[in-house]
Amino acid sequence: MADCLFCKIVGGQIPASITFRDEHVLAFKDVNPKAPFHELVIPLRHIADLSAAGGSDAELLGRLLLAGAARAREAGHGAKGFRVVMNTGADAGQTVFHAHLHVLAGRSLGWPPG
Ligand code: 5GP
Ligand code: ZN
Repeated sequence: MADCLFCKIVGGQIPASITFRDEHVLAFKDVNPKAPFHELVIPLRHIADLSAAGGSDAELLGRLLLAGAARAREAGHGAKGFRVVMNTGADAGQTVFHAHLHVLAGRSLGWPPG
């Protein structure tokens, strides 16, 4: 999508610290990290948010989760733990409307979230 920040990161028009890419998903460091480890995993194909995903996206959503878990493990957070989050919609605090999985680790994470 022409006007989407994360589509521009996928297309290379906006730089990012990319940590993983395959033919389906891209992972990169969050520019404003909320934990010592904070990466975003996004589908290459534009989907606005989790609510806009359908049955045909099931495999892609699974790939996001697996890529996020792999990044957390590779960064050394597999044993102590990590959290994955998909903020969906305004009340959940979503600010970028290209679906993305937050992967957070490296500190004790509070629950419930704010
Ligand atoms: P949301 O609030 O939509 O769940 O998460 C959006 C995330 O994208 C935020 O954590 C924010 O820090 C991150 N972000 C926003 N703009 C950029 C950017 O240009 N580059 C990177 N790497 N992250 C961004
Ligand atoms: Zn997009």
